[in-house]
Amino acid sequence: MKLDSRQLRYLTAEDWRVLTAVEMGSKNHELVPTVLIAQIAGLRGGSGVHKSIATLAKSGLVAKIKNAKYDGYRLTYGGLDYLSLNTLRKSDAVFSLGNQIGVGKESDIFVVADPTGKQLVLKLHRLGRISFRTVKANRDYLRNRSSGSWMYLSRLAATKEYAFMQVLKREGFPVPEPIAQTRHTLVMELIDSFPLRSIDNVSNPLKLYGELMELIVRLAKVGLIHGDFNEFNLLIKEDPVTKKSTPILIDFPQMLSTTHENAEWYFNRDVDCIKRFFSRRFGFTSDEPGPFFADAIKDVDQSKRLDIEVEATGFSRKMAKDLDRFVEAVGFRNEAEEDEDPTVDNEEDGHEVDQDYDEDDSEEESEEEEDEESNSRAAKEDQTEEEL
Ligand code: ADP
Ligand code: MG
Repeated sequence: MKLDSRQLRYLTAEDWRVLTAVEMGSKNHELVPTVLIAQIAGLRGGSGVHKSIATLAKSGLVAKIKNAKYDGYRLTYGGLDYLSLNTLRKSDAVFSLGNQIGVGKESDIFVVADPTGKQLVLKLHRLGRISFRTVKANRDYLRNRSSGSWMYLSRLAATKEYAFMQVLKREGFPVPEPIAQTRHTLVMELIDSFPLRSIDNVSNPLKLYGELMELIVRLAKVGLIHGDFNEFNLLIKEDPVTKKSTPILIDFPQMLSTTHENAEWYFNRDVDCIKRFFSRRFGFTSDEPGPFFADAIKDVDQSKRLDIEVEATGFSRKMAKDLDRFVEAVGFRNEAEEDEDPTVDNEEDGHEVDQDYDEDDSEEESEEEEDEESNSRAAKEDQTEEEL
């Protein structure tokens, strides 16, 4: 999906009201009746609302549904992007939009700048934009979802990710600083780094390996398992002066509690991902076995359990449940090895789920190699910024 902010400036106050009305109407209607849009926008009767709808539809921010029983529109991901950018701009979190630096299967990553010119990262969650291998039951779960519910799930993913980043940052974990969150998007600190995936040599693999295992254990000590702890979600940041490199952990929507019924399996998978990567890439294998889940969760200070804290705050139990159902149906692992998942019977059929995406979304998946290249510092420097 393209994120073209240029039209943002050409929308009139009325267009924004209409777009906001479509969003509000979407809470109860998959297809928001045109009369309701006019009513919510407070533009009853006039031709203004039709003009605005035409503008929004032309820009792909709202869309009709084929064979609908009544006249109405639904919000598209493009419309949701615009509403989010507008909110971020109004709250001074984001001033301009730069290059896209990542296309995950379930997210888009952009460099943005705040009003002082400081570069930040904007992550837009795009759940539902996935190709995956799974069983029939899960396919039905996905097929029956409307675009509105994809947007709901994307909002949950962003909300959850932001909530975890906040507590992790506060507790001194090496994660980007969370800056703002709205709808399916979040803004965070830009880590000037390379993903571990694109690093061919490290001066001291033993030391880095030790740090990563320590991080996995440290997370478990506060009740958490990352769930996608691998070379794609670890950014290696080098201090320009001391040359010391530090791993920074990103990507948290699949984070789970150490009390999850399959916690040990997920913990081991995180550990094994790193072991396998170090063995393949650096020819490094540790002499020490483990770390082991049972040891990691021994003597946990219950008052420091971040899984419990997050559940008690922004990210409610109902939200967690809705998102868990999705994770269990498809997994969030767009990057890790295709391991056997205890909750998913992996059958090779490569089913694509894209029917809920707008027609203009066809060019979104790109090759891994391209991603890596565009994630490099050079790509970030070669930036063109578009003021919102
Ligand atoms: P996904 O859910 O699609 O995997 P990630 O959060 O892992 O999304 O981000 C995808 C890629 O974007 C990362 O591998 C990394 O290269 C880049 N990226 C994400 N967040 C940041 C950040 N804060 N600073 C620098 N690069 C980032
Ligand atoms: Mg990732």
